[in-house]
Amino acid sequence: MIHHERLRPPPHDYPADEWNIIEKGFHPEFLAQSETMLALGNGYLGMRGCPEEGGPNAENTTILNGFYETRPIVYGEEAYGFAKTGQTVCNVTDSKIIKLFVDDEPFWLANANLLRYDRRLNMKTGTLDREILWETPSGKQVLITSRRLVSFPNKHVAGISYCVTLLNAEAFVVISSEMATNGPGARGNGDDPRQTRAFSGRVLHPRTSYCKDRRIVLCHGTEESRLTLACATDHTLETSCSYDCKAVHKEDFGQAAFTIEARRGCPIQLTKYMVYHSSQTASAEELCGRAEWTLDRVSAQGFQELLASQEQYMSDFWRRSDVRIKDIREDRTKRTTVEIQQAIRFNLFHILQASARAENTGVPAKGLTGQAYEGHYFWDTEIYLLPFLTYTTPQIARNLLVFRYNMLPQARARARQLGHRGAMFPWRTISGEEASAYYAAGTAQYHINADIMYAMRKYVQATGDERFLLDYGAEMLVETARLWVDLGFFSEAKEGKFCINAVTGPDEYNTVVNNNAYTNLMARENLRYAAQTVEALRTTASDAYKALVHKTGLAPSEVAAWLRAADNMYIPYDPKLKIIPQDDGFLEKEPWDFKNTPSDRYPLLLFYHPLNIYRKQVIKQADVVLAMFLLGNEFPEDAKKRNFEFYDPLTTGDSSLSSCVEAIIATQTGDMDKAISYGMAALLMDLADVGGNVKDGCHIASMGGTWMMLTYGFGGMRDDNGTLSFWPRRAPQDNAILRFPVRYRGQMLEIEIGLDKVEYQLHEGDGLLIHHETEQIRLTKKDPVAVRPVSRRIALPNVA
Ligand code: BGC
Repeated sequence: MIHHERLRPPPHDYPADEWNIIEKGFHPEFLAQSETMLALGNGYLGMRGCPEEGGPNAENTTILNGFYETRPIVYGEEAYGFAKTGQTVCNVTDSKIIKLFVDDEPFWLANANLLRYDRRLNMKTGTLDREILWETPSGKQVLITSRRLVSFPNKHVAGISYCVTLLNAEAFVVISSEMATNGPGARGNGDDPRQTRAFSGRVLHPRTSYCKDRRIVLCHGTEESRLTLACATDHTLETSCSYDCKAVHKEDFGQAAFTIEARRGCPIQLTKYMVYHSSQTASAEELCGRAEWTLDRVSAQGFQELLASQEQYMSDFWRRSDVRIKDIREDRTKRTTVEIQQAIRFNLFHILQASARAENTGVPAKGLTGQAYEGHYFWDTEIYLLPFLTYTTPQIARNLLVFRYNMLPQARARARQLGHRGAMFPWRTISGEEASAYYAAGTAQYHINADIMYAMRKYVQATGDERFLLDYGAEMLVETARLWVDLGFFSEAKEGKFCINAVTGPDEYNTVVNNNAYTNLMARENLRYAAQTVEALRTTASDAYKALVHKTGLAPSEVAAWLRAADNMYIPYDPKLKIIPQDDGFLEKEPWDFKNTPSDRYPLLLFYHPLNIYRKQVIKQADVVLAMFLLGNEFPEDAKKRNFEFYDPLTTGDSSLSSCVEAIIATQTGDMDKAISYGMAALLMDLADVGGNVKDGCHIASMGGTWMMLTYGFGGMRDDNGTLSFWPRRAPQDNAILRFPVRYRGQMLEIEIGLDKVEYQLHEGDGLLIHHETEQIRLTKKDPVAVRPVSRRIALPNVA
């Protein structure tokens, strides 16, 4: 279901551009949204797109992935095993502030007379660029150009190049470069449970602070989570105007103030280097030292070098990840093509910004673009992001899977706490411990265990990284398989079938249900993969097998028990409707009254008590439909069609994780109109603020979903059974060419789905076997392989 009226362009003027997100005017009413959209990040450090001047801001947060503080979760009524400790990502030191005063007049966007304003997120260079012409009340024209980056190659580093030129007069100029800790930051959660909980007191406690010439270092720590952060800045000023500089520091504040006698036409070029180091083990002194080493290096290299390495990084990223769409009717719909291309790149760019340097951390649901969902990691990473990363930058996918492995001790402890065998991964977390305060839509989502294993399987198959299984994967498989066997039982009421009761599937509008079909299907997959992996180790890698037995205490009889559970797994089926009921009770529920639900009462979770939702037949997000995508080869096409037609009208899409999946299944069932409307909703989720909450941060899972929608959906990619095949899907009235690269087993191919042919080209590697539909194709680097004309073309809709 799509609420079309909410799919609207942003309320201010954002001209379409293939490589930039452009803001042509300062719009205070759109502040929060543009802060999210123009945010910069590298997976470790994130800065919202707030102006340099320190305001005006809606939510001025700077986030370090995994840098959090804890607090007790207070329940009105406690129960055994409830998560006890909340975790919230911190708003850390804001180092990007550069205030400007001309003849003592402060430059402040909200009241400045702006003769020119251009701000753009440049996705080719990985920078946020701004050009402003400001006329002061006394008629002096000041040109301000700046370029900000959060470096990809230098994980701890951000930089700003900031240039001021008086165009028509001379003036006394002050440029005050500042750092501030414990500023006003994130908004509280109001009535929206998805937003963050604001801490009431001081979160970052001063450890040490000092200045050295133009270098300032502030070091803080958290009390409960015992994390330490050093933030340091350094400056260079280049100008032929005479100037003075004074640096000061306090516990929570640092400032390097440059007072300049600005001459007409004479540029004043300030470069600011910003460095963040954080740790749970290193002392404040050591972290400050590390920050200074990094500063020494980057300031010696200079901003040009930072920029050059950023551009190189971006160009490599786009070479292996860019998805291109081209409309053959250039003149008639050029704008449409450009908008779609822009949206595709925007989504991919933000995934990179959320994950590139997520080393020893996960990827928060909002990336590093906002504090909503408290900076927590969910299944979003494995099911929605990992496919894109696995097929374009497998190293990042690997890092994220290793991070899951590293939380195995907490997952084992959590399983014990709930009386289970094996390991139970947290529904939402930063530290590895369960942080969900609402078990019904949290802890009960056991499916996350199978989701992680599913993503790992895809990673191993696509990369051929069998070593991963030996070092990490097999152990996770053993522990998750144990969990499933422990959780379920052979039910007499269901003819001895293996049933899993009291769980919540992906759809959070039906909680604590029996036999959620998605969960059972994914658990079956998990159990079989575990059995297959352990068996392969036992027969072909006896040392690794012995090590596994040693680490897990695996008994030979366990594997048979896993297979017994898998082979007897209960999958609900309704013979009358010929569909898979979402769970045992779903079909018995009273239908939701969609007709009398006004469109401004969505998402339902903000307007109805959970009980009113749970007792009705209404769905938040793709559930059975998601299973049909993930386990595509287990569903014949007619079953997909029947199930999709049944579930689609009941699905509100109140979660942004829904429309991309619905688009994929619609391509597979041949409903191209739906595929396009869902596809566009996913593609524009953030740029057009489809959900109305982009102010709180980007929807990173949906962004990953757009890649899946283009490749698995329209590109018809399939990777079940360890082979790569393509079944491109098209709509009759279409006009577009779709092109995307895929990395597979260390090789890189590109597929172009044209109007009259599909072309496969190997760019890297010695040779690769793939399938085009049922036809096997051997690719070599020599020539592209073109395959038979396809009758229908790719659909390119109009952006309303
Ligand atoms: C969705 C979950 C998702 C979470 C974080 C919720 O609204 O229902 O599936 O994991 O958001 O993105």
